[in-house]
Amino acid sequence: MTGTVLHIGAHPDDEDIGLLSYMSHKFGVRAVYWSATRGEGGQNRIGPYKGESLGVFRTWESLASRALDGGESLYGPFIDFGYSKNGEESLSKWGSKEMVKKIVRAIRMVQPQIIVSRWKGISDDFHGHH
Ligand SMILES: [Zn+2]
Repeated sequence: MTGTVLHIGAHPDDEDIGLLSYMSHKFGVRAVYWSATRGEGGQNRIGPYKGESLGVFRTWESLASRALDGGESLYGPFIDFGYSKNGEESLSKWGSKEMVKKIVRAIRMVQPQIIVSRWKGISDDFHGHH
């Protein structure tokens, strides 16, 4: 089977690794995960990294995951500013038009047949970035 799946999330660790691995290894399709941020605003209990260096570390983790699950990683330019209570707060900092523009850019670059959002955009998504 040939084809491309674009999986979209907010943070490098939001991806559904099972989905990427299943699509890539079972069906041989190109599976691309696009993360809006590098995850630099998250918590880190297992290492010294914080802020930008945490974003670099999470990028490495994400790339290492793609090496195993057979997918590819792309990243948006948005800064993970830490916990956000709702989507309105996140989009006010990132810019709604800018977010749409960057997702459209990812769609144009990847040209997927299927797009899978990691989150639903509802309050049950646990985080305003989602
Ligand atoms: Zn997340």
